[in-house]
Amino acid sequence: YTKGLNRFDETYNFNSIDPSYKEISPYFKNLIESNKKLKASEMAQASRFKEIIDITENMEEGLVICDENGKVEIMNKAAQNYLDKDPDARFIDLIDDEDYKEFIKEIEKTKKTKAMAFDVNNFHLKVFVDPIIDSYDMGYVIIIIDNSETRKAELMRREFSANVSHELKSPLTSINGYAELISTGIAKESDVRNFAEIIYKEGNRLLQIIDDILKLSSLDENGQGIDEIEFDIKEIAELCVDNYRGKSDGKNIKVINTVGSYKIRTSISLFTDLVSNIYENAIKYTNEGGIIELSSIILDKKLIIFIKDNGVGISQKDLPRIFERFYMADKARKRDNRSTGLGLSIAKHIADYLGFGLEVTSKVGCGSTFRIIIDI
Ligand code: ADP
Repeated sequence: YTKGLNRFDETYNFNSIDPSYKEISPYFKNLIESNKKLKASEMAQASRFKEIIDITENMEEGLVICDENGKVEIMNKAAQNYLDKDPDARFIDLIDDEDYKEFIKEIEKTKKTKAMAFDVNNFHLKVFVDPIIDSYDMGYVIIIIDNSETRKAELMRREFSANVSHELKSPLTSINGYAELISTGIAKESDVRNFAEIIYKEGNRLLQIIDDILKLSSLDENGQGIDEIEFDIKEIAELCVDNYRGKSDGKNIKVINTVGSYKIRTSISLFTDLVSNIYENAIKYTNEGGIIELSSIILDKKLIIFIKDNGVGISQKDLPRIFERFYMADKARKRDNRSTGLGLSIAKHIADYLGFGLEVTSKVGCGSTFRIIIDI
């Protein structure tokens, strides 16, 4: 008798019901209807779940969703990348840090949204945890934002301000000191001229630093836009050589300029600053009677301008840092000329701004070669 019950599945035609099952059939009909509804709702949920995964998969922010037992249900690509964890990790183990565990315990206790910053795998992450409470359970939505760049910029800004104050203070201290010696009459008559010369030089240094800082900050405000015009790089190279002729001749430096004629379209003033900064350094860091060569080639759809000197060179230790603001490889040598430690960081900034590459190779005692690389 029970064998016939197995026929009551979704495909059963209840209109042609077997008389022997007449009484029990409404009950089965209900069960089958409920089952159908349950299946439909399960499918709808699965498709919503998939929708959430699809939408969140390529988000820049990390997203993790955990169930009430702390099991991760969704972990998008960004979260996996930031946390370097598998999608089957547990909520409490997402970050290996005691502060994180405390942070989670606090949220479990207070059931309130909380955010905290963590340094994880070279990222500076801001982690927001939001408890989701329904009538039965509590799950969690975790949003992870990568604040590494903002943090880096903040550190750079602080370091820059500290450096600016220091760099401005040292010439001013020296100016004040010598001026005081003269004004109080302590300085001997014969020293006054010498002291005035120092004051004049340090004053100039101060002006140069302020000039460079202004240049850097105007480049920082990227919004200004650039005035692009078409010009020939050969003319700019010749202009730079001419502008610094006094300095190179003063050191008896032989300058060979073979930069070819090639037209590019960009900001002529920024490009001239870029070449000038590098060329001026080449003169500054090349000894009496040295050689500087400016040249260019076209290689693999790139125009490369070389500024090569056979001067003092840069050590491997200093090389990665010379584009930093206020970095000077040889602190002792810097004071006697118009060094600020800003020239190359301005050059790098300009290159980035114009979309050019700027590279350098160097060997102590042999010289340095700077390369400006332009996509053509
Ligand atoms: P500075 O005002 O000191 O020249 P820069 O930012 O222009 O500052 O350069 C940073 C440092 O890089 C310099 O102090 C110097 O030590 C080194 N440097 C730059 N160009 C050269 C070069 N052509 N040869 C040797 N050292 C160089």
